[in-house]
Amino acid sequence: MSFRDYVRKVDPYVPGEQPRSSSVIKLNTNENPYPPSPEVLKAMEGVSLDSLKLYPDPDCTQLRHAIAENFGVKDDQVFVGVGTDDVLAMAFMTFFNSGKPILFPDISYAFYEVWANMLGIPYEKKPLTEEFRINAEDYAGENGGIVFPNPNAPTSILEPASFIEGILRKNRDSLVIIDEAYIDFGGESVIPLVDRYDNLLVTQTFSKSRSLAGMRIGFAIGSPELIGYMMSVRNSYNSYTMNRTALAAGVAAIQDTEYFEKTRKAVIRTRQHAVNRLRELGFTGPAPAGNFLFTAHETVPAKEIFSKLKDRGIYVRYFSKPRIDNYLRITVGTDREMEKLYEALASILQ
Ligand SMILES: *Cc1c(COP(=O)(O)O)cnc(C)c1O
Repeated sequence: MSFRDYVRKVDPYVPGEQPRSSSVIKLNTNENPYPPSPEVLKAMEGVSLDSLKLYPDPDCTQLRHAIAENFGVKDDQVFVGVGTDDVLAMAFMTFFNSGKPILFPDISYAFYEVWANMLGIPYEKKPLTEEFRINAEDYAGENGGIVFPNPNAPTSILEPASFIEGILRKNRDSLVIIDEAYIDFGGESVIPLVDRYDNLLVTQTFSKSRSLAGMRIGFAIGSPELIGYMMSVRNSYNSYTMNRTALAAGVAAIQDTEYFEKTRKAVIRTRQHAVNRLRELGFTGPAPAGNFLFTAHETVPAKEIFSKLKDRGIYVRYFSKPRIDNYLRITVGTDREMEKLYEALASILQ
């Protein structure tokens, strides 16, 4: 036997393409079209070269405090990590050890299945309805935990906080993770519910609404008990996940609420306009609540539109997966980028 027989073989998550050329109009990975707050640069410049010789604060005290302040929770209710992907992986490791299957929707963030496979966690995918809605009854039976995004991805469909609360009530003995990567684009966060439900963990990211995908900052909010378990697991794995620059950038980003409101509203405004323009071009799809649209054309196949857009230097996301292979996921760009998109679509659909 060779070492090759003992390699852990996994099917990795495949992120959207990151083109080298900056002339591409990039509407394929749900990044924010606007730069982060200018305060972020100042904060990064405030990190002295000399300080980098020292390890960062393993407790991420200042960033956790800034996040806690923003959401009106206590510092020990906040866990931070290298993007939500890191936070979610830690949460899976920490909480999903019952041996019972965890539950998530069949059409959802593809990383859940990848982590479950990677970590040997059994899982069941619950089919969304015909209208791509989550069916609450699917999450009422015995399970090893529940995770889904709200708004869901790639559908951009939002469920109200009351819907989440219903699932929490039926699962008092299961940990429920609500992945709020896109909640700032028009949804109601369930963070206020963490004090009433000790089985709720809410995750959010700086990658979308705070324009910091390149910095890698994500966080979870839950009871001090849940956060304590996660800190122990993280400290058994890597005590220094967050570097000094990211910690400083994160504090500045979350404190600049004015800039956050301005850019978040600009994205929402452009999105609403996009819904109308796409409808005029013959597209349909669910009402979007994230910074992206999930849309199908009434006559032309998504795959064809996807590749013709790509030929014109406009990247959107296409999933060749059952049920959604006639849909495109289009990230909301700047108004100028979107005008180019509508122009290209009009010419493709002629
Ligand atoms: C983007 C995204 C994340 C992860 O974001 P990070 O960049 O790792 O913070 C998590 N969940 C969903 C549904 C996402 O779309």
